[in-house]
Amino acid sequence: MMLTDDARHMRRALALARAQLGRTGSNPAVGCAIISKLGHRLSEGATIDGGTVHAEEIALKALGGRAPGATVYVTLEPCRERSAGGTSCAQRLIDAGVARIVCALEDEHPNGAGGLATLKAAGITVETGLMREEASALYQDFFATIAVR
Ligand SMILES: [Zn+2]
Repeated sequence: MMLTDDARHMRRALALARAQLGRTGSNPAVGCAIISKLGHRLSEGATIDGGTVHAEEIALKALGGRAPGATVYVTLEPCRERSAGGTSCAQRLIDAGVARIVCALEDEHPNGAGGLATLKAAGITVETGLMREEASALYQDFFATIAVR
């Protein structure tokens, strides 16, 4: 099967997320890949063991600077607010100067939900729903823990 570039990069982000599944405590296992304007993979990341450092943070740290014009592929909506305080992933992505976010799935957690709206409001192009089904399968258990609140 021929994959579009978007699908190829999202598939990579999903693989990164899947590799951390069950290792991220009460946080979701997220994968993130940052791709340059010319299509080069600049960096990638996944939620760390224990879940306290998010995929986008890891990828941005690995990038080592700003990424103007880059596209970010992420398996779950970047957080709008951090439960532990600190800078949200949405804000970090805005600060990095990325141009476009391709996200597989909206977050149902109150701290996550609204991240995409924040990014959009900052002028970043946001697309949601690429490989939504694959992502949904990864986050069913996480979403179930929210529903019990
Ligand atoms: Zn985050």
